[in-house]
Amino acid sequence: MTVPRLAKAARVILVGAPGVGKGTQTERLMNRFSELSSISSGDLLRKNVRERTPLGIQAESAMKSGKLVPDAMILRLIINELTKRGWIRDNALRPYAVYASSIDMADNTVDAVTIPSPLRTSRYTFSEKPSASFILDGFPRTAGQAIQLDSIVPINMVVHLNTPSDIIIDRICNRWVHESSGRVYNTTFNAPKVDGKDDLTGEPLMRRADDDPEVWKARLKSFRETSEPLLEHYDKLGVLWTVNGNSSDEISPQLFNEFGKRFGALEH
Ligand code: AMP
Repeated sequence: MTVPRLAKAARVILVGAPGVGKGTQTERLMNRFSELSSISSGDLLRKNVRERTPLGIQAESAMKSGKLVPDAMILRLIINELTKRGWIRDNALRPYAVYASSIDMADNTVDAVTIPSPLRTSRYTFSEKPSASFILDGFPRTAGQAIQLDSIVPINMVVHLNTPSDIIIDRICNRWVHESSGRVYNTTFNAPKVDGKDDLTGEPLMRRADDDPEVWKARLKSFRETSEPLLEHYDKLGVLWTVNGNSSDEISPQLFNEFGKRFGALEH
């Protein structure tokens, strides 16, 4: 089987409404392009909460009440993670003095490039190696966070997964779950053999408590409000690419194709 390889680092953000299948696309991209990793701000935060780090303890209450944690906190996490993986380097730090104890960052693991733009005065340098390719999940969430991220590492593709709201709502509201196994059905395109019953056990199917159309309408509206300035920001930078589709299967082939074009994916 041929494996497509990337010719340069892909630094990607997927922006899409809840329910649009960001997780599915991330997983499919990672399966197809083995050099890609995913960094999830929610996962990094949850790890810190679990490990009772000072940052985790501070973040916990905001997370529990569904609020965003302060930008400075989330930024620190992302910078640490990118540094730890050897994909960025903070030139303001003497690596051994600051990182030696916690982060295995040998100086020569970063294939640093100096950014040619005279506008860029970042204190960070970043790797262009294909292995320094990532998809950010959950970050940046706001235009403010995007501006701060720009000063650390430039994102070179922002994918806007665009599915009409009524299709998302339709999909969610036709979703039925078999609680004990987690099997998911959809009465429109993946219906159970017997109405309301799990195919394997015959047990009754349930609707998730938060699969309520009104809750989803509010969620989608709030997504539109926060994502608009974020998308505008990346559009101005010339890295925004919008893909339209009513399902993950409609979106994936378009995404693979564009990804290949942009990052010079070579078949081996
Ligand atoms: P998620 O798993 O992406 O839904 O994130 C879980 C929680 O972590 C969110 O409800 C926020 O409290 C916090 N969080 C994750 N990412 C961010 C971010 N980029 N900015 C602020 N808070 C965040």
